[in-house]
Amino acid sequence: MVDWIEDPMAGAGLAAGTLPEPSGSGCVECDEAGGWWFHLRRCVNCGHVGCCDDSLARHARRHFEATGHRYIQSFEPGEDWFWDYLDERAVHGPLLPPPRHHPTAQPAPGPEGRVPSDWRKQLASSR
Ligand SMILES: [Zn+2]
Ligand SMILES: [Zn+2]
Repeated sequence: MVDWIEDPMAGAGLAAGTLPEPSGSGCVECDEAGGWWFHLRRCVNCGHVGCCDDSLARHARRHFEATGHRYIQSFEPGEDWFWDYLDERAVHGPLLPPPRHHPTAQPAPGPEGRVPSDWRKQLASSR
């Protein structure tokens, strides 16, 4: 674990102290498309919730590539680590407004009802 996030608001157009709440309980793009995910990540800058690099669509990383928002925090219950997509390293970050993880009743992979029975095989073959 290395540096503290120096300026999580860079490029977000927000004043310091107005860190946004998460966009919802699931991946924004997967929810729009009726897809499913493995684990969820939360954008520090804007609150966008996207799916992780081990998910099929990797929307959290695509959000970084589209916006330049480089810092995410895990949105999984019991996890509070941050990641910097630009430098590909773990970083320390600020205490974000709650909720800091998706609902504990929501399974991973999720969401309930959209995860195919062969999800392990699908994820393994996508690597
Ligand atoms: Zn997704
Ligand atoms: Zn963002």
